[in-house]
Amino acid sequence: MLLSLITACGSTNGSTASGQAASDTAATASNNRQAFDGNAALDLTRQQCEFGPRVPGTPAHAQCADWLMATLKASCDTVIMQTGTVQTATEGPLGIKNIIGVINPEASQRLLLLAHWDTRPWADNDPDAANHRKPVMGANDGASGVGVLLQLAQQLKKEGTALGIDILLVDAEDMGVDDNEESWGLGTQYWTQHPHVSSYKPLFGILLDMVGSANATFTREYYSTQYAGGFVDLVWKNAAGNHFINAQGGAVTDDHIFINRAGIPCVDIIDLRSDSPSGFCPEWHTLGDTMSSIDPATLAQVGQTLLNVIAQLEQ
Ligand SMILES: [Zn+2]
Repeated sequence: MLLSLITACGSTNGSTASGQAASDTAATASNNRQAFDGNAALDLTRQQCEFGPRVPGTPAHAQCADWLMATLKASCDTVIMQTGTVQTATEGPLGIKNIIGVINPEASQRLLLLAHWDTRPWADNDPDAANHRKPVMGANDGASGVGVLLQLAQQLKKEGTALGIDILLVDAEDMGVDDNEESWGLGTQYWTQHPHVSSYKPLFGILLDMVGSANATFTREYYSTQYAGGFVDLVWKNAAGNHFINAQGGAVTDDHIFINRAGIPCVDIIDLRSDSPSGFCPEWHTLGDTMSSIDPATLAQVGQTLLNVIAQLEQ
């Protein structure tokens, strides 16, 4: 993903930028579930990294796809591997694999949860230019969001839910180039043109991206507020813990843009930094995006927030 030029913090939309951390009391929203297990999500994040960088077209990518299928099959009612071909900006046509885990396929009330599972082929933000053509490990940028969603599916399998949940793991998010919005989110763009069920209409969607850093700050992302402001309110009202900041953040070219344009309101939970040149964490698109920057406490807050939102929708 890429920070867009519309990065003015406190932008035009009238969201309440209180600057306060979301209330901790929301973290204990009444539900009968176990607390989200951040250590289990950490382990599922690590297991993806053990394949190596998951660059589309590589053996590590193919092996991780098989593992994601098997892992989701243990916790979802239906699992679909969607294959297709997309056009990249710089590498020609590319075969992709979107992986979809469906919980309660018959339920009419549905929530879409997504994260990208591919990793960027180029560490082009690395401080050492000699690394700019090397792939990133993507512990945070890729594996963290997927790790939270895999663990969430396992918890829902154990505890049950009346809600329909669709876990969409999209491919080829991170092969984009500057000044070309359509070069990002290629797997998501393919899915919006080929949804896994016809007339698919969830209540809304939540995208997780870079949700594992020890120093994460999840402010309200700009396009999410523009397209899906009421659902941003819902998520931040249910936010668990001090990494969620109830303030307007910058604008990011990410998978949620294409979901929103397809008519599904979608909120991006993404680590936005006001104190770094990229607008993201310092490890973003560098060789430093490894497991050493991932904190299970952050994963736990994000997973707990999803559980709180689900509990609210179940009422
Ligand atoms: Zn990225």
